[in-house]
Amino acid sequence: MKVLVIEDAPDVVEAIRLGFALQWREVDVLGAERGEEGVDMVESERPDLVLLDIGLPDIDGYEVLREIRAFSDVPVIMLTARDDTFDKVKGLELGADDYVTKPFDHLELLARIRAVLRRLDMPAPRSRAPSFRSRDLEIHFDTREVRVRGEPVDLTPTEYKLLYHLVRNAGRVLTHGTLLAKVWGREYIDEVDYLRVYIRRLRDKLDDEPEHPRYIETERGLGYRFIVER
Ligand code: CA
Repeated sequence: MKVLVIEDAPDVVEAIRLGFALQWREVDVLGAERGEEGVDMVESERPDLVLLDIGLPDIDGYEVLREIRAFSDVPVIMLTARDDTFDKVKGLELGADDYVTKPFDHLELLARIRAVLRRLDMPAPRSRAPSFRSRDLEIHFDTREVRVRGEPVDLTPTEYKLLYHLVRNAGRVLTHGTLLAKVWGREYIDEVDYLRVYIRRLRDKLDDEPEHPRYIETERGLGYRFIVER
């Protein structure tokens, strides 16, 4: 496995390298000190995962992430310093998979990396009913195809999983903690921001409006419910 670290602080890169050498030997660590170099390396080296610092000498981590997401779905974990004015929601909206605050403990970093990789690896949930329909929305579970008014909707694996669990429990409120545990994993049950960002994205893609929802209803302070058509 190949991990690309985009970070200009040599001590941080060295600590990460050492941590992998001690705990996870099959990982090759590549380094880029500048943002543009990092983007090029994502393209040329095709890493399995990227650790991306926010403060870089040329362009900042958000811009790097934006450029990476223009051509790649590689999992990205942002590295942030405690005194950075890191905007978690902005990072998630740009497509970061997770973030870790520096100085981090190496075991904590490894746990985050494993959680992100496990999430991508999880097979799509299976359903006995082959498809689901509600108003203009159609889901075919075997092919994971989602359509709105007959037009295919392109969902990321995480967006699909979120929709799947909402639909399978249509009519019932799923709490923030339940959804986070089902979709992201138990370590994430307090990360309500993740859920908000993804629900917003899902609504956009399904052409749903939070004020007059047709599919996903917010239960303020509690969770979300997929609306059963009457
Ligand atoms: Ca830095």
